[in-house]
This record gives sequence, structure tokens and C-alpha cells, in this order.
Amino acid sequence: MRSAARRSVGTYLRWRSSHLDVAGLQAHQRRRVARQLAYLRRHSPFYAEVLPPGASSLVAAPLMDKALMMREFDRINTAGLHRDELVAFRIEQERRGTTELFRGRYAVGLSSGTSGNKVLTVLSPRERARYAALLWARSGIPHDLAQPRVLFALRTNNPAFTAVTTLGVELVYVDYFVGVDELVRLVNDRRLNVLAGPPSVLTTLAEHHDRLTSPIAAVVSYAEELDDPARTRLAAAFRAPVVELYQGAEGMLAFTCQAGSLHLNEDVTLLELVEAGDQLGAARQAVVTDLYRRTQPFVRYQLHDLIELAPGPCGCGSVFRRIRRVHGRADSILHLRAPDGGVVPLMPDYVRRSVNQASDDVHEYQVIQWGPDDIEVRLRLAAGADEAAIEAAIRRNLASWASRAGGQVPALRFTGTPPQPDATSHKLVRVLNRSLR
Ligand SMILES: [Zn+2]
Repeated sequence: MRSAARRSVGTYLRWRSSHLDVAGLQAHQRRRVARQLAYLRRHSPFYAEVLPPGASSLVAAPLMDKALMMREFDRINTAGLHRDELVAFRIEQERRGTTELFRGRYAVGLSSGTSGNKVLTVLSPRERARYAALLWARSGIPHDLAQPRVLFALRTNNPAFTAVTTLGVELVYVDYFVGVDELVRLVNDRRLNVLAGPPSVLTTLAEHHDRLTSPIAAVVSYAEELDDPARTRLAAAFRAPVVELYQGAEGMLAFTCQAGSLHLNEDVTLLELVEAGDQLGAARQAVVTDLYRRTQPFVRYQLHDLIELAPGPCGCGSVFRRIRRVHGRADSILHLRAPDGGVVPLMPDYVRRSVNQASDDVHEYQVIQWGPDDIEVRLRLAAGADEAAIEAAIRRNLASWASRAGGQVPALRFTGTPPQPDATSHKLVRVLNRSLR
């Protein structure tokens, strides 16, 4: 599609995020849920079995998670697709470095879960087009940019880059394990003007920003936690706005608005929040329902992430609720000892803040709990940083958050071990609880 079509689809999605009122949004969600459930009862063997006849509200559907999705994949999908066949197809594709569609029709993805089990995702042509429209309308690519050319750094497991033009937006997909020299060359050769990738890739590129030969119009961050110091560094290096997407295998869940808030895509994905034991704030476990996807439905799908919503309306005028903070994954919660012998959960965001606020000289870090009394803090500091003072500040900050939560921090072990990305997902998770396994 050319730019006229892009404008019309994008304009519609933009209109919806800024003009729906609360009642209109809720009516839209109810209508979509009822239609999804009715469709699934007819076309998905799994949902035909578990949904009662005439079910029109989500409470009728069971909670879904990664393991159940993979176990029941053949019966959940509505296109008669087989898990083992798709996995084999995708692995072969990665091995050969090709990007064709399954049966000439379905885009197959295989994300690697941090616990080692992979999740399949399948999109039909229509679902792919809808996703591209959403990406264009709400990804933060400036709408007045005549020819958006986007570097899309993903875990593709493909040595070659692929360029796709959808809705007039050129997307250049590249595996983020190619070296920084390769990335710089790609950006320069193809005059890419939007950089999209996880913060760890973007900050590496930022260190080489003076080698880029054409201006960058926007920086889009996703897949890993983007904290404030990293955001500031990126904006300064590229002299461009930095926006955040919140997205996973289940789709794009949230986007950054003109006012800088991270809004849920509530007209596309419905979010339920479940109690998760946060003592200090309001972090909840996220459960999502995609209101459109039918080939592979996501109904009441539990995410690993803990989310805290922001209260009140946004200055941009959208009634879509806002995420104040993504606290990270449930297996990022530290377990502290309570004075009464019990366990107190400490949400990862407080841990991240304890480190970030200790000093600007912390370039990278990782906090890992190995056991009830063993927490390792891995630090990569700027040259000449005052190591002892930074460690003392981190100790103090963590102790303060812990006592507010009603627990105690054990003696911290500071090491120079480099922070390590997860072995299967290759994402850098900055706070990890390894004592739970
Ligand atoms: Zn807003």
C-alpha cells in the first residue's frame, strides 16, 4: 500500500485512540469479546469444548498460559495447523536464513521463552496487515516523515537482513547479534531514519552515533526495560525523540502518545490485572485478550510481566489507560526475609531504582538472587568511578526499599562479572530471582 492508504488506515487507528470515550471503548470491547468467543466456539476445537454455549463474556474462558498454549496448540488454532510441523518449518527457515510464509500464507514466529520453552506465533495475511497498520499508526514513527525507513532489530535467528515495505514504510529486519559495525553500515547504506530495537542494542548504537551519516527522526525501544538514564542517553546521542513500545508474542500491547505516556492499545487488546503481592505499589500480573486475532487466538493469556497503571486521564485526551511502570517479570521479584520468618516480595522496579539512583556512573548492571541470603550485584562502571561509594549507595537504597516493604536485604555480593543476557531469549533481564528454580 502507498502512503495514501497508509494515511487512511493510520488515521482511523489514531482517531480511535483519541476520540473514543470510556463508554464507547467498553461497548467496543464487549462487542469484540462476544464476537471472538462466538467465532472460537465454531472454529477452535479447544474453545468449542471449554466455552459454554452462548458465552459472551470473558469470565467464561479459562486462563491461558504459555505451556497450555503450546500443549493444546493444534486444538486452539482455527486453521488446522500443527505445532510440530510449524516448529520444524521455523527451525529449518532459521537454519537456511530464509523468510518465506508457511503454505504461502502464514507468518510463523518462534520466540524463545526465558524458561527455555518456545512459543509459536502464527499470523494470517489479514492479521499481518492489521499489525502493520497498528505499528505505523502508533509506533512513534513521526507521521510527517515522508519516507520512513526503519531499522528493526529483532531476534530473527537469520544472518541476512530482510527488507519489507508495508503501507509505504520500509522495514529492515536484522538480527541484533550482528555486530555494531554491521548495524552502522546498514543504517548508512540504506539511509535508515528510524531506529527500533531493544535498549541494549540502541545504547550500543548510541556509542557510535558519530559514525551515522544521515539524521535519525525517531528511536523506538522495546523488548527490554528502558530506564530513565538510558532514555536520556539515547535522546542526547541521536537528537531524536525516544518512544517506547510494549510488545511481545501476544502483539503490541502499548504505545507512547504525544504527551509521552505509555497507553494500552485497549481497542485491540483487552487487559485484565490480577493481584500479585506488591506491598509498596500497585503492580499487578497482566492477563491479555486479543480482540481480533483468530488464526491463533490469545484469550486471557497470562504474561510474565507485572504492570502498574497510572491514575487519571492523560493530557493527550485518550481514555486508553496508561502504564505507569512495567515492573518486569514475575521471576524478577526478589524474596526477602521478614522479621517474623515469612517472605516479603520486593518488586524489580524498586531494585532497578536502587541501582539507577546510586550514580550516573553505572553503565550496566544485573542483580541476581541465588538463594534466600545470597544476592549478587554485577556492575559495569564508568572509568574512574568511585566504586566503594556506589556500592554503599546501592546498599543504602535497597535497604530502604526493603524496610518499607517490611523485609530485610541480606549482605550483597558485588562482582565484576559482566551482566549476562538470558541464554535462550538473549534479552538482558536486569533483576532475576534464580532461587526459585
Ligand atoms: Zn496520552
